[in-house]
Amino acid sequence: MFAVPQLRSLVTDIADEMRARTDRGRIADYIPELARVDPGFFGMAVALPDGTVVTAGDAETPFSIQSISKVFTLTLALGIAGDRLWKRVGREPSGTAFNSIVQLESEKGVPRNPFINAGAIAVTDVILAGHKPSVALGEILRFMRFLSDDQTVTIDKAVAESEQRTGFRNMALANYMKSFGVIENPVDYTLGVYFHHCAIAMSCRQLALAGRFLAHSGRNPDTGHSVISSERARRINAIMLTCGHYDGSGDFAYRVGLPGKSGVGGGILAIVPGQASIAVWSPGLDDAGNSHLGRIALEAFAKRSGVSIFGA
Ligand code: GLU
Repeated sequence: MFAVPQLRSLVTDIADEMRARTDRGRIADYIPELARVDPGFFGMAVALPDGTVVTAGDAETPFSIQSISKVFTLTLALGIAGDRLWKRVGREPSGTAFNSIVQLESEKGVPRNPFINAGAIAVTDVILAGHKPSVALGEILRFMRFLSDDQTVTIDKAVAESEQRTGFRNMALANYMKSFGVIENPVDYTLGVYFHHCAIAMSCRQLALAGRFLAHSGRNPDTGHSVISSERARRINAIMLTCGHYDGSGDFAYRVGLPGKSGVGGGILAIVPGQASIAVWSPGLDDAGNSHLGRIALEAFAKRSGVSIFGA
C-alpha cells in the first residue's frame, strides 16, 4: 500500500520532471476545439482507497476526457446488456488506429473492441436503446458525477459541437456499422450521444476518483457502494490492458504494466488493482494518439513505486 508522504513526493517529482521536458508530443488537431489547448499543461492525481487524492501540477484543471469516457460507457452497457454486448462488439486488440475502418469490412461491421471508435459507437448505441439521446446522455453524465462524487462534472459543449461538425470518419464508421445492423438507432442520435460523452470535461482529481471502483473489485472503498461485480471489474481492467491504447496497447503494457485507457485530449486513466486509481494529463500525443508525457509519467511512477500487475 502507498504511504501518503512518499507518494506525495513521488508524484511531485514526476510532475516537476514532466513540466521541464520540451518533448511534449502533438496536440490532436482533427477536433478543432482541442487544437486550442495549451500543450504546456501537466497534471497527475492518485486516488487511494480512503478517498485521499495525492495531486501535482495541473490536477484540478478540467480537460476533455475523450476516449477515457469509453471505460464508463462500457461499464454502463454491460449493466444493460450483460454478455449479450459481446455480440455487438468484440474484445480483442485491434492493432489498428483508433479511427480505423479497415477491419470493419472483413469482420461484418462488428468492431474489434469497445475502445476503438467503432466499438465505442456500438456501445453508445446499446446505452441509447429505448431512450431519447438527452436521457441517455444524462444517464452517462450522472454516472460520472456519482463515481467522482462531484456534481460539477459537465460536458464541454464547444468540444462536442466541434466534433459534431468535423467527425466525418466517425460518421463513416457509424453508417458502415448501420449497414450491417450493428447500429440500431438513427445514426445521428447515436453519434450525438457519442460526441457528447467524449466531450465530458474532468480534472485529474475527478477522473482518478471516478476510476476507484475498477481498482477495488467494483466497489467504492470509501463509501462501500458497489458499482459492479468484482468479476466485471476484473474483465474491464483486462480490456483496458489489452485494448486501452489502440495500436500502442502492447507498448503501454510493456512499459507501464497497468490497465489504462487514453483519450485524445491527452488524459490517461490507469488502475493499480487493490491500491489506487491514477489520472494523468498532458495534451501532446504520440503517433498512436496516446498522451506522450502521460505515458512517460506513468512509466516512471510504475518503476519508482514498484507497482505493476506483472511485479515490481
Ligand atoms: N472523440 C474522439 C473521436 O471519436 C475520441 C478519440 C480518442 O480519444 O481516442 O475521434
